[in-house]
Amino acid sequence: MSADGTGAGTPAARGLVVAIDGPSGSGKSSVSRAVAQRLGTAYLDTGAMYRAATWWCLEENVDLADHNAVAAAVDVMPLVMGIDPAAPTVHVDGTDVGEAIRTTEISTAVSAVATNLAVRAELRRLQRVIIAAESSASSESADASFSGGRGIVAEGRDITTVVAPDADVRILLTASEEARLARRSLEVHGAADAAAVEATKDQVLRRDRDDATVSQFHVAADGVVTVDSSDLDFEQTIQAVLDVVEQVMATAATTPDAVTEGEGTAR
Ligand code: C5P
Repeated sequence: MSADGTGAGTPAARGLVVAIDGPSGSGKSSVSRAVAQRLGTAYLDTGAMYRAATWWCLEENVDLADHNAVAAAVDVMPLVMGIDPAAPTVHVDGTDVGEAIRTTEISTAVSAVATNLAVRAELRRLQRVIIAAESSASSESADASFSGGRGIVAEGRDITTVVAPDADVRILLTASEEARLARRSLEVHGAADAAAVEATKDQVLRRDRDDATVSQFHVAADGVVTVDSSDLDFEQTIQAVLDVVEQVMATAATTPDAVTEGEGTAR
């Protein structure tokens, strides 16, 4: 509200929030990280938070099938997310778990923790705190933030729909099942032949099927722009996402309500 009470005037500048969702193997983590680096914002890998929660529960010998015990463990998990896109980090109780959370053991178990609704509520709360700190218009919060208030690129499964439905830019990064399996197979097994692809199916298809019971990340919600990376290489995908950010922000600058109304597919 302006001093004269009309609501007119220049609002305080707020950092940019870019929300990116997508299935496994769509390239969303590496692409989101690169986009954050180019935009000069923070980067939040929310999947790493669910992986860290899984690591913590296993470390604490919590039975993943015991919903209440898992929720209680995650409530007190001493998690610290490093949100520098040049070198993102994850620490739990002072231990650097950056590598430990990428093992097949964690990838296989993570959906059991991520489908626990109490866990989701707690991790979403933490995610919103981080996003708010990076995008705050207040200069004190901006000073305390990693990006100095420039903003954040946050990626996951439910960021465009539940965690930050009011983000400035909302993108669903998809790819064909074939492309996603081949990419993950190369990442995990160093090959994309038939045997390697078969061995990767649990980590891509089964995990997405389980995850889809609590999050909607296969179809773009209203106002979310789809970027299909099936036929794009890494650099082209980064550029496609940056193009969407530019287009949406340019449209928003001329028509303030347009950001939440637009829907489309960028290639
Ligand atoms: O993105 P990544 O594969 O590291 O995510 C690991 C897991 O974390 C997903 O399989 C899903 O179970 C969970 N997840 C989620 N919601 C998010 C991000 C990840 O449920 N926003």
